[in-house]
Amino acid sequence: MAEEKKSLNFIEQIIEDDLAMGGYQKEDLKFRFPPEPNGYLHIGHASSINLNFGLGLRYNAPVNLRFDDTNPIKEEKEFVDSIKRDVEWLGFKWAKECYASDYFQQLYDWAVEMIKNGDAYVDSQTSEAIANQKGTPTEPGKESPYRERSVEENLELFEAMKNGDTPEGAHVLRAKIDMTSSNMLMRDPIMYRCVHKAHHRTNEEWKIYPMYDWAHGESDFIESISHSFCTLEFLPHRELYNWFVNKVSKPEEFQPKQREFARRNLSHTVVSKRKLAQLVEKGFVESWDDPRMPTISGLRRRGYTPNSIRKFAESIGVGKRENIIDLSHLEFCAREDLNKTAPRVMGVLDPVKLVITNYEKDEEWLEAENNPEDENAGSRQVPFSKELYIEREDFKESANRKFFRLTLGKEVRLKNAYIIKGEAVIKDEEGNVAEIHCTYDPLSKSGSGTEESQRKVKGTLHWVSIKHAIPAEVRLYDRLFTVEAPDADKEKDYLEFVNPNSLEVITGYVEPSLKEAKELEHFQFQRIGYFCIDKSSSSEKPVFNRTVTLRDSWAKKK
Ligand code: ATP
Ligand code: MG
Repeated sequence: MAEEKKSLNFIEQIIEDDLAMGGYQKEDLKFRFPPEPNGYLHIGHASSINLNFGLGLRYNAPVNLRFDDTNPIKEEKEFVDSIKRDVEWLGFKWAKECYASDYFQQLYDWAVEMIKNGDAYVDSQTSEAIANQKGTPTEPGKESPYRERSVEENLELFEAMKNGDTPEGAHVLRAKIDMTSSNMLMRDPIMYRCVHKAHHRTNEEWKIYPMYDWAHGESDFIESISHSFCTLEFLPHRELYNWFVNKVSKPEEFQPKQREFARRNLSHTVVSKRKLAQLVEKGFVESWDDPRMPTISGLRRRGYTPNSIRKFAESIGVGKRENIIDLSHLEFCAREDLNKTAPRVMGVLDPVKLVITNYEKDEEWLEAENNPEDENAGSRQVPFSKELYIEREDFKESANRKFFRLTLGKEVRLKNAYIIKGEAVIKDEEGNVAEIHCTYDPLSKSGSGTEESQRKVKGTLHWVSIKHAIPAEVRLYDRLFTVEAPDADKEKDYLEFVNPNSLEVITGYVEPSLKEAKELEHFQFQRIGYFCIDKSSSSEKPVFNRTVTLRDSWAKKK
């Protein structure tokens, strides 16, 4: 089987080794995807989703969707809802919808146990004082003067913290580990802080909130997650993860295992919820789902399909080293998928009028194939008449032999229609081409089987019939940032590199079949690119987002 032959990535290898060594049975395997609901999911998350849910499918194991909702200052229900929508849209199914906040009571009870066992204490210093005692990687830290508080006093203070009887910042609960550890994270890490802010799920119930390190491994343990995959910056947290899990579990109990993989970055954008939030808040983009955003919802609105995003994540795979994937690779994945699935239509974005002087009929309807890549896609009728729009750049009065489009005295084919010949040009006062006059060969109709219809001409142009065309708002997008890695230089603000020309709005003219098109429907505008109906579209005024050009025009520009 092809699937079996594919070499394992290092994450799959870890699992295979665990199974081979007998510590784990296949039935023990369980994974989770643990977003913090502090923003919308982005393309980096797609890698993590694809990894975790992909393992679920591979091993027929459950995958939980776990909201890491331990910080009410930044988290909101809106983000929870968007995350669920996006994971679903990508085509994955979670076994259980879980929330770290559902474990607040259990975590609190465990913390009380730890205090009783002398493993945690309330520190009443300022956060500055605590930071000053942390030491450096080469110098040990200093113990807090509160480290030896009695169990009774700790319990009393911790309860007061929990009830909101102590002000924010007055105390924290710290694990009592080792201020001389070579791992800075083991130097009495903070487990709880006082935050007097309502939580989107627990409301006013809690006045203390657990820190990431205290909540994450414990949530994994509660849910019996076998392998907890996170990004590389958590590698030094692994020791603390294990320390906490050891404190709350019994040796004979099944313990989750944290392993790390490299974050994936995409060029010409930022993949960090916090940084993306700034773009929205400061008005550089319209919203989280602005089609320029690298969010899943932005990509969806832009016209990316779930399949193209999954293929992207699959093709870059998992790695042990951080890297930047060029945006052109994501665009390639979109083209690959849309080429197979998107119906072909005609639209003219920069119109110039073409008059067929010898065309006598009022109009006629011509058959046009919907998708040559899909034999089941069928065909449709497009209207043809004496006056058409063609693309301005498809005409030159005179041109060299390499110009395979329309010039005076030469023939080209109009897609799905006739062969025409350029005859004359009418210019406006400024000397711009206002109208092109041509003649057509009535016997050359595409698909009519005549000898004339089979005559070879060098170029084929797309067009629309002026009296039938519908004007449409067309939004053309470019990269959101002008440089490859806008947040690489820590001295500079990434917002300085926002591309001021990332959106161009024009009026185009599209064939009337598009009147019925619905939000998120995809099309290939022949010879131009892939487009998708925006949510602001209506049949009176269709709005199209350009997903991606037909070819990688950026590579040429460079
Ligand atoms: P952000 O900085 O955007 O908020 P995060 O890591 O804080 O990212 P979480 O919501 O905590 O975001 O992430 C959920 C999961 O997705 C985590 O396991 C995280 O490691 C993973 N993840 C986040 N960003 C990336 C990325 N760029 N590449 C791969 N995995 C990622
Ligand atoms: Mg985060």
